[in-house]
Amino acid sequence: MLSQKSNVVADSVQDFYVNLDKVKYLEAVDSSFHSYTFLVNRLNQLTNHPDVKPEMEALEAYVDGNPVNEDGVELQLESDGSYTSVPPVSTGNGFTSFATASANTVVQIHAHGVGDYDYHSDGDLVLLSEFLNQVKEANTNSNGIVLNNGQNITAIMISDGKIVALRIGDLSKLENLYDKIFNQNLHDFFLRAYNSRVIEPIDEECFAGTNQLCADPILEEKYKNNFDKFLDDANLGIDLFTATKDSDGNYVWNCVD
Ligand SMILES: [Zn+2]
Repeated sequence: MLSQKSNVVADSVQDFYVNLDKVKYLEAVDSSFHSYTFLVNRLNQLTNHPDVKPEMEALEAYVDGNPVNEDGVELQLESDGSYTSVPPVSTGNGFTSFATASANTVVQIHAHGVGDYDYHSDGDLVLLSEFLNQVKEANTNSNGIVLNNGQNITAIMISDGKIVALRIGDLSKLENLYDKIFNQNLHDFFLRAYNSRVIEPIDEECFAGTNQLCADPILEEKYKNNFDKFLDDANLGIDLFTATKDSDGNYVWNCVD
């Protein structure tokens, strides 16, 4: 249908699909620290923290029970370095809702129900943009905290098959992220772009009706690659990480980029 809206979509296509020489946080950081190791270590430290790890593990156990509904938790960083956990205000089949984030909310974790995506969904990216904006707004009177929190902010998704984290890779894109994803005109476009770039190719290549044609690891790999490519091309400044557990039961993160 031709309407005013189609102009909005046409304009934003440029923005979403032209990968403007993205200066990645990974490359832009001071060369004196090993960026990759640094980023991954921060995530390792965060998720193996004694206040955080049990929360992650509780959600892993929850997912093991093949739940229909989602569940989740947010973590607020206190001045003494400890974390306070805050439960969601509501959860259900395909959604987890949190109260407005506080200035010190740094981690948002949610677990997918059985049969849900193994990576963050389009709706999860919307949620992330709102979350970031709420933290930013809560910090507007404290110069500098926004950026510091921005570097720490982590959105973790735990599913039956995967533990995935999204982190800010490029702080300068924080504003853009919210505008692009949450602004209503772009919101529709964003959801369609996610679907056409991440989900539809998988449906075409790996499914005939309800028959799964690709083996799970191949399906998994396609999902990861499509999602990572989408994040890169959409130029949102978000980095993608996945975790496994080592023999001591500690989380070990890997940066997909
Ligand atoms: Zn989700």
